[in-house]
Amino acid sequence: MWKIGILYLLLINLAGFLSMGIDKRKAQKQKWRIPEKVLFLFAILGGSTGSLLGMYTFRHKTKHRQFVIGIPVILVLQLLLAGFLIYRNMTAVNHYTGIGMGTVVTADVYGRDSKQAVEELPALITELNDHVLSWREPESSISYLNQQLQEEKDCRLYPEEQVWLTEAWKLCEDSGGALDITLRPVLDLWGIEGEHPAIPDGKVLQETLEKTGYTKLHISEDGNLTADQAGMTLDLGALGKGITCDKIAERLETMKISGAVVSIGGSILTYGKKPDGSAWNIGIQDPRGEQGTAVGYLKVMDNTVVSTSGDYEKYFMENGVRYHHIMDPVTGYPADSGLVSVTVLCSSGIDSDGLSTACFVLGREKSVELLEKYGAEAVFITTDKKIYLTDGVTDEFQLVNPEYSIVSE
Ligand code: ADP
Ligand code: MG
Repeated sequence: MWKIGILYLLLINLAGFLSMGIDKRKAQKQKWRIPEKVLFLFAILGGSTGSLLGMYTFRHKTKHRQFVIGIPVILVLQLLLAGFLIYRNMTAVNHYTGIGMGTVVTADVYGRDSKQAVEELPALITELNDHVLSWREPESSISYLNQQLQEEKDCRLYPEEQVWLTEAWKLCEDSGGALDITLRPVLDLWGIEGEHPAIPDGKVLQETLEKTGYTKLHISEDGNLTADQAGMTLDLGALGKGITCDKIAERLETMKISGAVVSIGGSILTYGKKPDGSAWNIGIQDPRGEQGTAVGYLKVMDNTVVSTSGDYEKYFMENGVRYHHIMDPVTGYPADSGLVSVTVLCSSGIDSDGLSTACFVLGREKSVELLEKYGAEAVFITTDKKIYLTDGVTDEFQLVNPEYSIVSE
């Protein structure tokens, strides 16, 4: 749209400019002259700059005061109007709320093209989920890889798949296996995401654990995936939302969007700047509060992904014990590291999401080194309602729920 606008302005100003030249020549030959009303019309239609330039270039003189005063006045008015429109365009905000990746998606996008960005968002998320990342979707690339792995066939990875799987594998390794992208059979056994979750039989659980272990997967540098045994399953559930945040950031970058905040369930992307330059204020879910209530707020600048993993997302209760969806790959039981939630901030979405799950399994103390390695910051909330912050976010966090207390070390 704005390209058409610029083309129009160029043409109308060129017309204004040329009319001045033609008018001058005709005046010299004492012939018919373009009535000044026509030139006014050019000016009103946005061609005043061209007309003025023409007057100057062709030394066009006119005795009409209206003309001499009128055109500059029109120009000033037009400049004011253009300034106002540009300001409105730069500060425009468009919102989106919908469902994607099995969770609530919201977005606030600022600036020029923000409407288009918001319109594109649902399709981008659905495409990534259904055709690429989700093990649930039969048509996805991950499902295809899982079919191949069932039969112990070598798999050729797409370049992007190779990048993600290599990074995911590295996160598994760096977390000492707290994150494990092959844990799907154990999760299925518990059925926590299904209708009838239940504590599995110990022997069956041990047998199922045999089918897991990221170290049995190998990704070669030229993009081949191989497994040491048949029947392995890939599950990027712990990193998918972060990967999607990265893809959205890429898209916002190509669209030259000035600022946006996009939330996909537990992963929130802050991109660029707000029109007034202030920090993004991101609510951290109260782990024991209703969905949407914040325990506190984090001030976040520029491009960051803020991912939270908590025991409140999907769980069932039995005999007063909470069995949730983040598993300790060693025991095959829900992780029990003294945390109810952990929020990780990192410039990379895949790392932020992967680390939040890994740190939830590791617990606070063992997470510190891992977070440092990835240049990430974190907010830990413990079962006894204490909040621990890493150095980079101590000044950025504002607690709003007085039942919790911040522990400074
Ligand atoms: P959510 O996706 O619910 O926001 P997470 O990013 O922490 O939260 O991912 C949790 C999901 O990751 C689980 O639903 C499960 O599919 C998978 N998962 C659970 N435990 C692990 C683990 N130790 N390693 C890798 N994936 C896990
Ligand atoms: Mg995660």
